[in-house]
Amino acid sequence: MKRFAIADGVEYLEAPKQESWMMNNGLLITGEEIIMIDGRFGDEGTLAFIRDNKVNRYFISHFHIDHVAGAWRIAGETNCQPALNKTEYKFIQSDVALSQATGYQQGGVYHLVKSILAHGMGFRCIHGILPYELAEIEVISKGQLRAIQAPGHSPGHFCLYAPQSDSLFTCDLGLDRFGPWYGFPHCNLEHYLSSIETAEELKARQLFSSHSPMIIESVEVALNRCRNIIEKRHSMVLSEWYKGKRTAREISGENIFYPRTDKFGKRAIPLMSFWQESMVRCHLKYAGLDNEEPL
Ligand SMILES: [Zn+2]
Repeated sequence: MKRFAIADGVEYLEAPKQESWMMNNGLLITGEEIIMIDGRFGDEGTLAFIRDNKVNRYFISHFHIDHVAGAWRIAGETNCQPALNKTEYKFIQSDVALSQATGYQQGGVYHLVKSILAHGMGFRCIHGILPYELAEIEVISKGQLRAIQAPGHSPGHFCLYAPQSDSLFTCDLGLDRFGPWYGFPHCNLEHYLSSIETAEELKARQLFSSHSPMIIESVEVALNRCRNIIEKRHSMVLSEWYKGKRTAREISGENIFYPRTDKFGKRAIPLMSFWQESMVRCHLKYAGLDNEEPL
């Protein structure tokens, strides 16, 4: 794991593996309290880092499983208290809450998620997890970080801007090769695209994100790439609609998002199909066509 100072008392933590669901990059704030925002460097690696740096609280940026996975161990095996943004913290308090918030229950795939994803990533719910306010990040960093709401990827998703070095931590806006990703019913393309706009308006000199290496040049290109991917997919979804396909299931059969739904093995096909169908729904909703879809 590499550390880079991006402001007084604020470091960017780069995980050894990029473009991986098993790890993510994070930030460390050393103020009156020591706060880590995300950062997964392997289960043991994360626990050791938290102990060595006497981290008081671990702020999980958003409730997606690749960010929450090992936090139950932090709660149980260190003196550090995990917390999640106040919009989403209740979503990981129980299986029932999580299966509803992700749409996995309604999609009939929660059991599969538990046995494939949750098992593989070492995920467990954290019943007593507490919320944090974005304003706390600003206070603890003594104003070195500005918290900017950036919903769309998830309802409580946000970015963090460090004016001192003109750096933007874009969290999971999707600068990595899997992104942008919006395979849940709670994802919202209109919100996502305005979050991209907000990020662009900051005109940051360098970008950091959850799953990809830092970007120190062509910042506009990286953000614009996200918009271009959405626009390309959007026209493909609409073209299927105008050809007469009227349900998200029919359109998702065109495999616009995942050319192969068996990419992660046969067992995972229903899950990949669920994500793909959710993404099609996001586009139909964005186009104002979701009401016309028969149930
Ligand atoms: Zn995410």
